[in-house]
Amino acid sequence: MKLARKSINNLAQITSIRSLSSGIEKEKADCVVIGGGVVGIAIARELSLNLRRNVLVIESASTFGTGSSSRNSQVIHGGIYYPPNSLKASLCVRGRRLLYDYCKEHGIPHKQIGKLIVATRYEEVPKLNYLLNRGNENGVEGLKMMDASEAMAMEPQLQCLKALWSPSSGIIDSHSLMLSLLGEAESHGTTFCYNNTVVGAHLEGDQIYLHVSETESLKNRDHKSQHCPDILLLPKLVVNSAGLSSAALARCFRGINRGVIPPSYYARGCYFSLLNTKVPAFNHLIYPIPEDGGLGVHVTLDLDGQVKFGPDVEWLHHIDDTSSILNKFDYTVCADRAKKFYPEIRKYYPSLKDDSLQPGYAGIRSKISGPGEGFADFIIQGEECHGIPGLVNLFGIESPGLTSSMAIAAHVATKLSRSK
Ligand SMILES: Cc1cc2nc3c(=O)[nH]c(=O)nc-3n(C[C@H](O)[C@H](O)[C@H](O)COP(=O)(O)OP(=O)(O)OC[C@H]3O[C@@H](n4cnc5c(N)ncnc54)[C@H](O)[C@@H]3O)c2cc1C
Repeated sequence: MKLARKSINNLAQITSIRSLSSGIEKEKADCVVIGGGVVGIAIARELSLNLRRNVLVIESASTFGTGSSSRNSQVIHGGIYYPPNSLKASLCVRGRRLLYDYCKEHGIPHKQIGKLIVATRYEEVPKLNYLLNRGNENGVEGLKMMDASEAMAMEPQLQCLKALWSPSSGIIDSHSLMLSLLGEAESHGTTFCYNNTVVGAHLEGDQIYLHVSETESLKNRDHKSQHCPDILLLPKLVVNSAGLSSAALARCFRGINRGVIPPSYYARGCYFSLLNTKVPAFNHLIYPIPEDGGLGVHVTLDLDGQVKFGPDVEWLHHIDDTSSILNKFDYTVCADRAKKFYPEIRKYYPSLKDDSLQPGYAGIRSKISGPGEGFADFIIQGEECHGIPGLVNLFGIESPGLTSSMAIAAHVATKLSRSK
């Protein structure tokens, strides 16, 4: 466990206590955040900056933000879609405001370009009215219903019957955001420990023992055999922000009530980019009416104007908890999937040319409700739910998790503010 040991030994707050009985080295820590995605990084920043905790982030990959945080649409969402009073609604609206302020203060590349949600069939028009009401209830600013001519004047390539305009939506460079949050966390004492995976935990009284192993040593792990961790960490606080595998990991925590852990589902979303466009085909985000499992194959733009379409929804089956924790996800974008994209996109962009899409990248949604099961909220569980002091589990942090990241961090800090 070379890297972890190097980082851990640098931490003044950790006292090394070798366990002669078990033979596995144990280290005390103040606060451990599991997962260095945008949410884990924002939480580490918040806990070190505002709660003045000594934070250690354990990340299984060789650097930060290689999971969903760099495989998404990079859209700053308004907060329209989610049921009023849900965590998704409140944390998205609050997170969006925090994010825009943070971007302005720290020079993070972003653009508030606005978004059109479009109805392309008459049956869809009532859904736009429903979204307008919902967005208003959620406190989303400036929503406006547009008739086809007004929307199509804004976007000459667009075809629609009606559109809902959301001026507060935008795009962001998520990597720059993570880098900035990480820098602030580090300058307030957070240590990032890469190439190490939390493989489980157990409780002794109220003390959590986190089981940590070098990621490299897990590569050829046989699913059936018992794995002996390289080190046991004994933190006062633990935040499980392991993204796709947070629920799988929580199921490996001996002593936790499994009844409070939601099931895991995974839905891959692929992106295709538009070839040969000297002038961007669109200047705003264009979204169809949401579908089961996602927001529909939409238009998103990079900050340099490159147009992308996606993500579609492909439910992945047979991913067991060990494969999830070991990050054995397939992010391949099969060029054949373009066949399904053309008819979806042509509903609102009829002049899309044949052979103009090229495979981009894929992300995987961290779901806690399965196909056809409908809305599931973010779950952020503290002691009040699972009874374990100092532990916060985050489950189902799919979209709008990037937009909500700073609000999620503040929410977690509030939960932990009274912890020792
Ligand atoms: C296709 C797609 C499009 C999206 N579009 C948007 C959007 O436009 N706007 C928006 O707001 N949101 C969007 N989202 C959601 C957003 O990307 C996520 O909510 C957000 O990135 C989640 O961040 P995270 O830190 O929780 O997870 P992640 O980024 O996945 O980070 C989790 C980290 O934990 C690490 N890890 C996992 N297991 C362990 C372990 N056992 N030990 C140590 N480390 C571990 C992983 O390596 C990873 O780095 C989208 C998501 C997807 C998949």
